[in-house]
Amino acid sequence: MAVFSSMLKIIRKGKCLFLLLLCLCVVAWIATFSNDGPVKSVQEGSSPLDGQHAEGFHRLELESEMVQSIEERVEEPPTKESCPENSPLLRGSLKLTFEPSLTLEQVEIENAEVVEGQYKPSDCTARQSVAILIPHRNREKHLLYLLYHLHPFLQRQQLHYAVYVIHQAGDATFNRAKLLNVGYLEALKDYNWDCFIFHDVDLVPENDHNLYMCAKQPKHLVVGRNSTGYKLRYKGYFGGVSAMTKDQFHKVNGFPNSYWGWGGEDDDLRIRVQLQKMAIVRPPPEVARYTMVFHNRDSGNQVNKDRMQLLRRTHQTWKNDGLNSCSYKVMSVHRAPLYINVTVDIGQPEQAH
Ligand code: UDP
Ligand code: MN
Repeated sequence: MAVFSSMLKIIRKGKCLFLLLLCLCVVAWIATFSNDGPVKSVQEGSSPLDGQHAEGFHRLELESEMVQSIEERVEEPPTKESCPENSPLLRGSLKLTFEPSLTLEQVEIENAEVVEGQYKPSDCTARQSVAILIPHRNREKHLLYLLYHLHPFLQRQQLHYAVYVIHQAGDATFNRAKLLNVGYLEALKDYNWDCFIFHDVDLVPENDHNLYMCAKQPKHLVVGRNSTGYKLRYKGYFGGVSAMTKDQFHKVNGFPNSYWGWGGEDDDLRIRVQLQKMAIVRPPPEVARYTMVFHNRDSGNQVNKDRMQLLRRTHQTWKNDGLNSCSYKVMSVHRAPLYINVTVDIGQPEQAH
């Protein structure tokens, strides 16, 4: 009997234990389902049964797409097509005028699309970005005529360009080459220009097929001018207007800084180009024609008597006399409507370089 009653007790306790275990299982099962539910529904977002979660997921997807497309828009503005290889706006040979009554205001009105000396075609992406560098002192009228003709000329060529006038401050002897080095260095602070045009202030191009773009080799653009009967001044002449890419100019260490007064600096640049095994290319003579506004030799720009001696040493000096040794002090940068005027103190001949 005693054995029987103790067995009954054990069975009753076991029942309780069994019931307890069963309850625990049910609680655990409910807990598991209540956690798993949403995860499942998000993963199966396409299930129509899980409408709410699916919609939420879809919204998330849409939002992330929108963020992505906004980011894309910010990073890459829709690029315009490249401008055609041959601009449809070119007119060929033009009759130039030099009206004594011309004013800067008139030229500004006629070139309203130029902002702070810079222009970009509105309907296509220019093939090159070009900085025009003009060495200058005391030639205001020449500058006015050049701006008058050059802005529409460059726009017809569908270029992205800016005009820099590098104005030598003070009355020390003029130094065209050093001013052009300064122009190159200062222009690169504004924009990573592809191409640089070294441009005398008094030379006006007569034919817009003479493209102000750089080539694979340094380019000389003044084959002929009215004052020389439209003939190349001499074999190897590289002065007046020339075009070099950023890399070509950097490779030759720019112009020499040590040529004060008139002459020699353009021949030095030609020697630098030749030393780097580059060739000089020119457009056809019927295209590369210029009118030079008449002038006498400027005071402060007397003939440089040392030029022949300097030229004999270029192969030794080019490495240490150029862009890497060009010291100067910018006095002011004025962004006028039609050009950026950089006034610079380039020192004196005594402090050569
Ligand atoms: N230049 C200038 N002021 C001067 C001397 C020269 O602005 O007092 C600049 C100007 O851009 C000019 C260039 O340097 O076109 C070359 O000088 P120049 O015209 O005398 O040379 P050339 O007529 O012999 O080519
Ligand atoms: Mn001249």
